[in-house]
Amino acid sequence: MTDPARPGPARPGPAGEVTDRAAAGFLHRYGEPPAGRWAAPGRANLIGEHTDYNDGFVLPFTLPLRTVVAAAPQDGGRWTVWSELSDSPVEFGVAEVTAPGRVTGWGAYVAGVVWALRDAGHHVPGARLAIASDVPVGSGLSSSAALEGAVLAALVDLGGVDLPAERRPRLAQRAENAYVGVPTGIMDQSAVIRCRPGHALFLDCRTESVEHIPFDLAAAGLAVLVIDSRAPHRHAGGEYASRRTSCEQAAELLGVAALRDVPAAGLDEALARLDDDETRRRVRHVVTEDQRVLDTVELLRAGRIRDIGPLLTASHASMRDDFEITVPEIDTAVEAALSAGAYGARMTGGGFGGCVLALIDADRADAVTAAITTAYAARNFPTPTPTFHRLP
Ligand code: ADP
Ligand code: MG
Repeated sequence: MTDPARPGPARPGPAGEVTDRAAAGFLHRYGEPPAGRWAAPGRANLIGEHTDYNDGFVLPFTLPLRTVVAAAPQDGGRWTVWSELSDSPVEFGVAEVTAPGRVTGWGAYVAGVVWALRDAGHHVPGARLAIASDVPVGSGLSSSAALEGAVLAALVDLGGVDLPAERRPRLAQRAENAYVGVPTGIMDQSAVIRCRPGHALFLDCRTESVEHIPFDLAAAGLAVLVIDSRAPHRHAGGEYASRRTSCEQAAELLGVAALRDVPAAGLDEALARLDDDETRRRVRHVVTEDQRVLDTVELLRAGRIRDIGPLLTASHASMRDDFEITVPEIDTAVEAALSAGAYGARMTGGGFGGCVLALIDADRADAVTAAITTAYAARNFPTPTPTFHRLP
């Protein structure tokens, strides 16, 4: 990996470019063309932050950024993997996928998928793989799930494995949780594997049921600007764990299985039963955020995309004031986007860095981008320009 923690700017590039890079990389490394190419996209969460581990609701959508795996079978129960982000390949055999953790570094995401498939009783053929990606690594747009999703699709097809789409996210999540050792929820893998174009994925994290909600930005003349804040991730792991513990303790105090079980209408009564102001604010974030996801879904179902703006902005205020997971760069980007006419803006992802998303008129992308750049310069923050992504 050149620098897994802080990669260079993403290269959105023309459609197909990343696919070509994967195929060309395969040919270059292995001296023959691949048997096929498989892709999975990056994702952003439209709304519903820190609700997943509270058994609540999230609403991710996919981005026009993809990880592509070019692959072909290889004899002898061995796997060879090249990524354009790394100078050297990762190679492993059956012995390394009989138990988690035997392959480390970025190759663990690939070995984890092989392990999870085998552990579920599937036959996985040996394979050669070459990986290219436009999804920025470590920015919270889920390059890890995109890698897992693309590798899983490749191995399932090459091996003729019968694994329906609805069972794939759980398997990819197991690769990341149990093999790589990163404790993520089910959102990322569900989003990259199950989202449909022009839709957001309404996911109930308790039941894992999903519903495809219309979210056709282009048809409405709108765009979502996703902005990498470039804020260094400060203490993100410890802060995440402490928020999670607060929520679990609050649920116990309130006598519910998870904070999802506190209805918005019962919030005041629940808060009155908690002594500690910080805990009250944590609970208020989760309960109101779940409700904001439900309200967003209702508006989108009614075709009222613009009207979700205030919910996005309210979500940001809740993360900033009640859950306390934003940082100055992020707050600055959100404020600047709103001043420049965004319908709504919020941090997306776990917090303490990562990306901001803003709902804007499609023709306002340059103006909003410029406003953020100016606000950053005024505060001496690093210029976020090279890592901007423009979407429908
Ligand atoms: P993200 O928010 O991007 O998912 P993570 O820390 O969860 O951040 O995952 C990033 C890690 O996933 C990288 O450090 C690397 O190990 C692995 N990864 C993602 N994409 C690639 C790729 N194209 N090639 C190699 N490894 C990758
Ligand atoms: Mg990830």
